[in-house]
Amino acid sequence: MDLATSHGRLSAAARNFVARQHRLLIDGQWVEARSGKTFAVYDPSNGQQIAAVAEGGAEDIDLAVAAARRAFEDGPWSRLKPTERGKLVWRLGDVLEAHAEELAELEALDNGKPIRDARAVDVPFGCELLRYMGGWSTKITGQHIPISAPGDWHAYSIREPVGVVGQIIPWNFPLLMAVWKIAPALAAGCTIVLKPAEQTPLSAIRLGELIQEAGFPPGVVNVVTGDGTPGAALAAHPDVDKVAFTGSTEVGKLIVQAAAGNLKKVSLELGGKSPAIVFPDADLSVAIPGAANGIFFNMGQCCTAGSRLLVHERVFDRMMTGLSDEAAKLKIGPGLDPETRIGPLVSEEQFQRVTGFLESGRQQGAEVVTGGKRHGNQGYFVEPTILTRTTPEMKVVREEIFGPVVCAIRYGDDDLDRIAKQGNATEYGLAASIWTRDIGVAHKLARKLKAGSVWINVHNFNDVALPFGGYKQSGWGREMGYEAIELYTETKAVAALL
Ligand code: NAD
Repeated sequence: MDLATSHGRLSAAARNFVARQHRLLIDGQWVEARSGKTFAVYDPSNGQQIAAVAEGGAEDIDLAVAAARRAFEDGPWSRLKPTERGKLVWRLGDVLEAHAEELAELEALDNGKPIRDARAVDVPFGCELLRYMGGWSTKITGQHIPISAPGDWHAYSIREPVGVVGQIIPWNFPLLMAVWKIAPALAAGCTIVLKPAEQTPLSAIRLGELIQEAGFPPGVVNVVTGDGTPGAALAAHPDVDKVAFTGSTEVGKLIVQAAAGNLKKVSLELGGKSPAIVFPDADLSVAIPGAANGIFFNMGQCCTAGSRLLVHERVFDRMMTGLSDEAAKLKIGPGLDPETRIGPLVSEEQFQRVTGFLESGRQQGAEVVTGGKRHGNQGYFVEPTILTRTTPEMKVVREEIFGPVVCAIRYGDDDLDRIAKQGNATEYGLAASIWTRDIGVAHKLARKLKAGSVWINVHNFNDVALPFGGYKQSGWGREMGYEAIELYTETKAVAALL
């Protein structure tokens, strides 16, 4: 392995971690995969191997699920008072914060994201979410329920943890997606088998170590790295009570099928093709950088990316000029460079997928306003790209690109129903943003859009307290806020004839 280039910028803590052996966390022990196999992890800024990680399979999933089951039924975790559980979850937030710089470096190295974003968003959001969810542990309550049947009754509901949960996560926010999944599940009292994405397993392995450091009992969180094989085994496992998945809509449908065997509960956070809708009265000094951030943040590898930019014809040309200027300002480079605003895409496969979309856009007649090609000659860099003259039938308009590519679409309509129809013209329904000074118009349109998150004069805004999830083929269920606690609890109704 040639570790020289990227490792030059790593702190000693991160360097030492990357150089270690990377195994599976099962029942509080770090163990080899049963097969003895490992897989390679690459630095996407130069394509060089940076680590080898244990390649978990179905057997390892069996062991991890058994450990999670023991921890759930019999372990000290099952006897913790809510306040003790909440404090542990909160403490994990503190432990993460104490290792914030190391974690940000691992994200920038492994995923390729700009370290300034990992420092400003991924790590602090994760810490905050753990604290927010830790607070819920003591507030998960049922209700006293009046009964109308004859007789004297005492009836009430209680909310109980759903049990052993399998959590399968993607590579676009490796640490943050892990925390989005584990924080509410732990707050609710579940035990977990976490399956990170094969492209970016490093921060999840480090998270496993930090979970131990925070003091969680063995088996409460198990981490099994590997590709889709352990993921599929987890989704199909008969002793898993719930599976939570974030990733492609295609794999989401496979998860649903796999979960059918024991009808485990399923929550899904899938793809998107979110519209950003700019009205002629929008404050362009806000809308231009906002739309740029909406698509170029994290190199467009966001499920909520504002990848269909619907702009009123009266401001279309000004928006295009402004957006091109914004794109030109974004420095492209390795994630670990603090000046970098656009890092590489996560993998060669993703690079091929995104450049394939660019080719298809050109072939189908889209016009490239800016960008449109690879940057440099090593690593997986793609220029921030704006496409115009698209038609609704084009692949670039219909499918999720998951890269720094926006389709700018001109509209001339002033009728809100027709604007909403255009915004909703996708099989997805994850997010949408509205850019206008007319707050009445904004809220009227917000009601008409079929999306789990609607943002007004901002894009890609998430908060620990705001429920997040999708309409249509963007998913099932809501993460964050109290709704995330509901995902990880069952309601039991108790009725006593007195
Ligand atoms: P993916 O859906 O294939 O992978 C996501 C996770 O699912 C990974 O951990 C993977 O190992 C696991 N997995 C793969 N096959 C599985 C199976 N059969 N059963 C259970 N788990 C399985 O995503 P990808 O291939 O990495 O990316 C493909 C496309 O998905 C991207 O181009 C993008 O459009 C979309 N994507 C969306 C999100 C999101 O947050 N919505 C995240 C990543 C990728």
